[in-house]
Amino acid sequence: MSVIPPRNAPHVVILGAGASLAAFPNGDKNGRKLPLMNSLVDMLELKSILPKKYSPYFNDFEKLYGIINADLKQQKLKEQIDRAVYNYFYDLQVPETPTLYDYLLLSLTNKDIIATFNWDPLLLQCMRRHPDVKSLPRVHFLHGNVAVGICYNCTLLGYMYNHRCHRCNDPFQPMRLLYPVEKKDYNSDPAIKNEWNELKKYIQQALYVTVFGYSAPASDVEAKQLMIDAILNNRYREFYEVDIIDIKVEDELYSNWKKFLYKQHYGFISNFQESYLWQHPRRSTEAFFDAYLMNSPWEDNPFPSFSNISDMHKWIEPLTNVET
Ligand SMILES: [Zn+2]
Repeated sequence: MSVIPPRNAPHVVILGAGASLAAFPNGDKNGRKLPLMNSLVDMLELKSILPKKYSPYFNDFEKLYGIINADLKQQKLKEQIDRAVYNYFYDLQVPETPTLYDYLLLSLTNKDIIATFNWDPLLLQCMRRHPDVKSLPRVHFLHGNVAVGICYNCTLLGYMYNHRCHRCNDPFQPMRLLYPVEKKDYNSDPAIKNEWNELKKYIQQALYVTVFGYSAPASDVEAKQLMIDAILNNRYREFYEVDIIDIKVEDELYSNWKKFLYKQHYGFISNFQESYLWQHPRRSTEAFFDAYLMNSPWEDNPFPSFSNISDMHKWIEPLTNVET
């Protein structure tokens, strides 16, 4: 006998590199592009530090990094790459106009979470321009993030760009980034372990899961298995819904995600605007519950397109006003 979920069970959103690319198709404020695994070497101009023998892997950062990481004689080169990657992402800046990440953040409330594999700071930079929206999702960083600083005295995470811990005023240490190697060991870093524990806990209680632009690459076998184990333990297994937002063809998506899905309770869509979150901002699980469990579908209430942030805030106000 399965437990009927509450209408306000969490909505969990999982982001991969494809989501940042979709949110910033023209790059950041200064036109710096968001890389994928196949474009990272080029975009970060790593060719200047990489010996020629690695050229067969220039289009596959995952493989390249794995090889260099495993070669004990190349640890200096590895550190150089780590620094270049960290600095490239650290310098990215969000454009002033609303981005897909602003819509995503405002489409969720504080019962929901976003867990991202991305190192870029843009989601957190977007989050900080909605300080008066009283209910926003929590954000977790599954592979670390350049915008997150850690104070080891206070065991506190904070905003890296503020430089110092707001409690003890010591300088923040950067959150460790997990690079694409097969054995990442999500338990070795306490901050990252905690981010994973939160994700697992939320996946087990979620009524809705949206995976956006995350392709579960080969170096993420362990990550994928952790998510599958969590969803198999979902309390509402016979009710939950999964949306996969990805531009790949359906067959490929199905074979990649089949262990994560339950019967026909999923949708493959190619952009965020087609998702339930876009059609029912801040009410996705309630609208879904009424439509599929009570047979009482809502009218869609899709986001209009906004040209500035304060218009977004005005539009969501009738929704936030009635939230408890
Ligand atoms: Zn501190």
